[in-house]
Amino acid sequence: MYVDTEFVYTLDDLRNWPNRSLFKGTALAVVGHPIAHSLSPAMHNAALQKLAQTDPQYADWRYFKFDIPPEGLGEALRLFSANNFLGLNLTVPHKTLALDYIYPEAATVEDAGAANTLKFVKEFNRWHGYNTDGYGLRHALKDKSVEIRGSDVILLGAGGAARGAALECLVWQCASLRILNRTRPTIDLLIDHLKKSTACNPLTQLLAFDFADPGLHANAIVINATSLGLKNNDESPLDLTRIPRPAFVFDMIYRPAETRLLKQAAEMGIPFANGLSMLVHQGAQSLRHWTGIESVPVDVMQRAVNSALISS
Ligand code: NDP
Repeated sequence: MYVDTEFVYTLDDLRNWPNRSLFKGTALAVVGHPIAHSLSPAMHNAALQKLAQTDPQYADWRYFKFDIPPEGLGEALRLFSANNFLGLNLTVPHKTLALDYIYPEAATVEDAGAANTLKFVKEFNRWHGYNTDGYGLRHALKDKSVEIRGSDVILLGAGGAARGAALECLVWQCASLRILNRTRPTIDLLIDHLKKSTACNPLTQLLAFDFADPGLHANAIVINATSLGLKNNDESPLDLTRIPRPAFVFDMIYRPAETRLLKQAAEMGIPFANGLSMLVHQGAQSLRHWTGIESVPVDVMQRAVNSALISS
């Protein structure tokens, strides 16, 4: 049976899912608003095809994409479970909103206040939440031989992805974490939330970013977790010449491949990376939660996103 996994489905499609899709297997999906740009279906369907070569059950698994507005998330989660969806990835703007509807299976969800991976557990009739963004970020940095442990980190953004990133930096014992965001009260909320987490070591400096801060040192890791840069004409979220020279600049955005922030890092000769490898690592960790398989085909997933980017 042919199933179009690149089509952008809506809440209306979900209300009518058996007729709309004719799909009878185990379904997975990424849910966001907007979502058309997502490479997750290409990445996960390639991984499922690979898994099916050694275990035929995965031949009946498919990964879809859904554009669901924030006010539709509660209804959508009920419909997803009623229609045999096993797993979901959540992206903008659902990562924090989902906490009202799910059971936080991993401590990272409560500690970060955000979930990006859900698994429906029939036994309890509820969605269990995980956060794999921090894992994805740490492994993407590792791919570039950049270690969070002992580093000063400047985190740009305080939304869903920033929350996972901030928690990972604390768990992996960065030396300091400074958070900069357009909306100041959101920084304070995030810092208050993180300070309650057991991951927050009292010796780690956790504070709002300030250009006048005498504690700003050279060789920090700058991480962009804002959505500023997604549009080609977007400004940079931080002028790198205004801070002591960083050791590495990471942008979670992967499309465009080089944001203004990364262009400036390149011009200044500072090593940098975009979010493509983070996408792969966080996706691989989601797939482990859904399948229970540890050795998911990360290389296949990486190749799939590379070729999806080239052909789009
Ligand atoms: P959210 O909507 O939860 O957060 C968006 C963040 O961006 C907030 O801090 C918001 O600030 C800030 N922001 C939005 N617009 C502007 C603007 N015009 N100027 C300054 N700041 C702005 O989104 P997510 O946290 O889920 O995602 C953030 C980014 O990270 C997205 O680009 C997403 O694609 C990327 N991402 C990449 C991943 C990967 O695997 N590579 C994984 C997860 C996310 P404010 O509080 O003021 O609104």
